[in-house]
Amino acid sequence: MRLVNDLHLALDQSQFSLDFQPIVDLASGRIAKAETLLRWHHPVRGLVSPNEFIPLAEETGIIRSIGDWVFCEATRQVAEWRRQYGLDMQVSVNISPAQLRHEGLDHVFWRSHLNTLGLSPRQVIVEITEGLLIDSGDERVQRQLDAFRDVGMQVALDDFGTGYSSLSYLRKFNIDFLKIDQSFVANLSPDGPDLALCEAVILLAHKLGLRVVAEGIESREQYELLAAAGCDYGQGYLFARPLAPIDFEPLLANGTDLRPGGRSALAAS
Ligand code: C2E
Ligand code: MG
Ligand code: MG
Repeated sequence: MRLVNDLHLALDQSQFSLDFQPIVDLASGRIAKAETLLRWHHPVRGLVSPNEFIPLAEETGIIRSIGDWVFCEATRQVAEWRRQYGLDMQVSVNISPAQLRHEGLDHVFWRSHLNTLGLSPRQVIVEITEGLLIDSGDERVQRQLDAFRDVGMQVALDDFGTGYSSLSYLRKFNIDFLKIDQSFVANLSPDGPDLALCEAVILLAHKLGLRVVAEGIESREQYELLAAAGCDYGQGYLFARPLAPIDFEPLLANGTDLRPGGRSALAAS
């Protein structure tokens, strides 16, 4: 209950910040996208994990104003980097199911915010979890997802493989990217079942015209197995941890290659 009370103050008192984690094009090592990850710096408890406070924010409805703040701040940051570095990087933002319930998201507001920034909706990906598709008696969610797409934003299905992974979602909902959950990546080995699962998901996605991001790549072997399996993008500690904007900026320098052995501005500095 204390945390809930504190959450109410957190936005007003500027206790939130955003980290950005590179999503790497596995073929070139370039940063293609960055995922926005919310951080809460609690004045007494220190850093509180999103896994701890997002559920509270959802229960209490505060997630709606937090979600709007995340969207505005993430897109503002990426618009600024675009101006400074002339990059085409996309930004992805996690959306909670609770943001889509009731009257749903204010797409008009989101769109006009992007207009003000001069940022194309094409630069924005919203990440939703499978749970969202399961829980939310689909029509409304389908309309909301379609609204994102109508505006020109892209949609990624996060943590794929952990929920029910009903294949019918892939047909029914308009999705651009599948993100293979890190639990599959963690146990990858050349002859193991998880590699077979990843390969099958990649093949399936490609047949459906979707691109695949593998989450939680921590080792060179995992990277090599996924690249050989034709995975499009990867994200994980091997390439970079989630970084505060000031630590992300050195990576935006031209020619950064985050693959093992590649030219990373971070390693060089
Ligand atoms: P997610 O969207 O699946 O984000 C990926 C999580 O994996 C992040 O945890 C990230 O720090 C972590 N990660 C990245 N690379 C690696 C790796 O190589 N190994 C391991 N073990 N972990 C890695 P984080 O930042 O603690 O976020 C946890 C979850 O909280 C996110 O999972 C997302 O569901 C939620 N979340 C974060 N920010 C937001 C937000 O702005 N809005 C909403 N609604 N949810 C958010
Ligand atoms: Mg995510
Ligand atoms: Mg995930």
